[in-house]
Amino acid sequence: MSVHQTTCCYCGVGCGIVVRQEPNGRLTVEGDKQHPSNRGMLCSKGLNLPYTVMDQSDRLLYPQMRLGRSMPLQRVSWDAALERTAAVFRTLIQKYGPDSVAFYVSGQSLTEEYYLVNKLIKGFIGSNNIDTNSRLCMSSAVVGYKLSLGEDAVPVCYDDIEEADVFYVQGANPAWCHPILWRRIEAHKTANPHVKIICVDPRRTDTARSSDLHLPIRPGTDIVLNNAIGRLLIENGHIDPDFMLDHTDGFPAYREQVLQRTTGEAADLCGIEPNAIRQAAAWIGRSKGFLSLWTMGLNQSVVGVNKNLSLINLHLITGRIGKPGNGPFSLTGQPNAMGGREVGGLANALPAHREVTNAAHRAELEAFWNSPVRMAPQPGLTATEMFEALADDKLKAIWIINTNPLVSMPDVNAVEKALKTARFVVVQDVSNRADTVALADVVLPAAAWLEKEGTMTNAERRIAYLPKVLDAPGEALPDAEIIWRFAHKMGFGDSFRYTKPAEVYQEYTQITAGTNVDVTGVNYELLRKNRTIQWPFPKKEIANNEVKNPENRVIPPGTQRLFTDHRFYTANQRAQIHAVPDGNASEPTDEDFPLVLTTGRIRDQWHTMTKTGRVAKLGQHSPQPFLQIHPDDAAQRGIREGQLVDVRGRRGEVRVRAQLTDDVRPGLCFLPMHWGKILASNQVRANNLTNALIDPRSKEPDFKFSAVEVVPY
Ligand code: SF4
Repeated sequence: MSVHQTTCCYCGVGCGIVVRQEPNGRLTVEGDKQHPSNRGMLCSKGLNLPYTVMDQSDRLLYPQMRLGRSMPLQRVSWDAALERTAAVFRTLIQKYGPDSVAFYVSGQSLTEEYYLVNKLIKGFIGSNNIDTNSRLCMSSAVVGYKLSLGEDAVPVCYDDIEEADVFYVQGANPAWCHPILWRRIEAHKTANPHVKIICVDPRRTDTARSSDLHLPIRPGTDIVLNNAIGRLLIENGHIDPDFMLDHTDGFPAYREQVLQRTTGEAADLCGIEPNAIRQAAAWIGRSKGFLSLWTMGLNQSVVGVNKNLSLINLHLITGRIGKPGNGPFSLTGQPNAMGGREVGGLANALPAHREVTNAAHRAELEAFWNSPVRMAPQPGLTATEMFEALADDKLKAIWIINTNPLVSMPDVNAVEKALKTARFVVVQDVSNRADTVALADVVLPAAAWLEKEGTMTNAERRIAYLPKVLDAPGEALPDAEIIWRFAHKMGFGDSFRYTKPAEVYQEYTQITAGTNVDVTGVNYELLRKNRTIQWPFPKKEIANNEVKNPENRVIPPGTQRLFTDHRFYTANQRAQIHAVPDGNASEPTDEDFPLVLTTGRIRDQWHTMTKTGRVAKLGQHSPQPFLQIHPDDAAQRGIREGQLVDVRGRRGEVRVRAQLTDDVRPGLCFLPMHWGKILASNQVRANNLTNALIDPRSKEPDFKFSAVEVVPY
């Protein structure tokens, strides 16, 4: 039997997993008790990973291509597939310029893969047209952190959980979506009954049910609530004037902003009781450890950046940051969304948190990569912009890697039209269940989890090494190898002479030297020995501070939490408090579409179900898509429990069974986001209804607020 330590490939918690392979090939998994993130625990998705690995019935096994969309895909060699793709890319670039092509990648890609695609398009093709599905997930938090703390740097670590006594969970349902973190919070509360959990969510989720205070605010009113809490913290004397004087800017304008509304006015706007806001402010104000956690309820909003800033403000005015148990903690959705950002896998970013708009940063990368082109000075197309540009024929070719935009993008009917009419579509994926495969001109089979090696970074800046345990089936190749082989076909072979991912990672670490994301001390050998390392981890830390635990593993001396010296990453090392207006700019409701639709995850499924949808056990929790609607709204429309209903919006519709529940506020309904065409039908795809409005700064879509009507079928 062989035993391997690796990391779960689903969510950003980044749980350590021990994989055992028996001589007959059977795989078992258990939580890694030595892993600092999960301490041996795994949720239902992690525990069922062996089934997704052992069932290979849906795997893409060979490269395929076709010369016209009306023709069937045909098996070809790797050389043929990559040569044709390179020929098309070269022709388009020559005729229309480098911005005529784009890569759309995934927060599930490994760091090395992200780095290579980024290097190829930015440093060698000369376009910044690479974006990731993390744009749909984390980009508002990224901008929020940058504007307030100076950089996309999550300041806390999981060990802060056991140091906190107030948890403020806003727009997140960690009980379902980050279950192992939530179990740590629950265990901490059980051991310390004085610990308080406040949950802000228009839905009564499992997180809300196990909280001490649930604030079921109207969708879109998070900033009103946070500003109201800010006002009460000021009025109750629960702010830290010395901290603000020494380490922040912007408080006077903030105070002026939050004083504009009384608690009563804010409560009316939020649709909750004033005393509930007072209670939340009192607990936060009196806490010793104030940890806020958030995900898509704040991020996936047309005012997502302002929502983030309004929450981070609460930490800055109280000085609750950089101290044990305190800090604003944006929970990463995908397993390597953070690693992708570290290597610059966004249309506006460069490796080590550099910016494409910064001439000095571009010059550093051009020199480091020995680029044959001048790097483009303007940000490339972001996720939603790519598909709009495809529809307008401004973008001619798109290469989609390990993500399924035909289910996951907002206003997905428009995305489907764009892909159908696009001149050239390459899909690189593991599974033939990805809906996008049906619209591809070239299909490239990728190796899956356990079939390739590389690194990922979880939500607490913890870099983990994932070993190769199994051979990929058929001719599937690791994503990194596909990209470096393609670079050779494009004529960039001299700069892509890699033979293994360790070389790619080593190259990346060199350009982090001296930055806030310095990982020059990290390499595969150390990661194999140590299992995980948090960034930053400069080289000197190995030489000077190596210490070992009883298992003879190196304990990294890297910072567990950031900003312990209260020097932030802004130019003047002071954090910026922002006066944030509390308006929302979501799609308006009206007589025809009077209800607000919000979308989200269910407990046992992951994204577009290409993996979890294959595990029968995981389907038992919620076998079918459903619409949650308040009983009063249902009664007004003559809708009964379990009845088929049509959910109609301005861009499309969905037909599902109604679930009547007061877990949603009146005026609100909820659809899970997982189901797509292949697994069910077009009729249940939640994103038929969502809109393409985006936050102007983060470019993150407004998934949580679309106007709809519901009628009996
Ligand atoms: Fe995997 Fe996330 Fe579950 Fe951990 S909590 S086992 S990382 S899905």
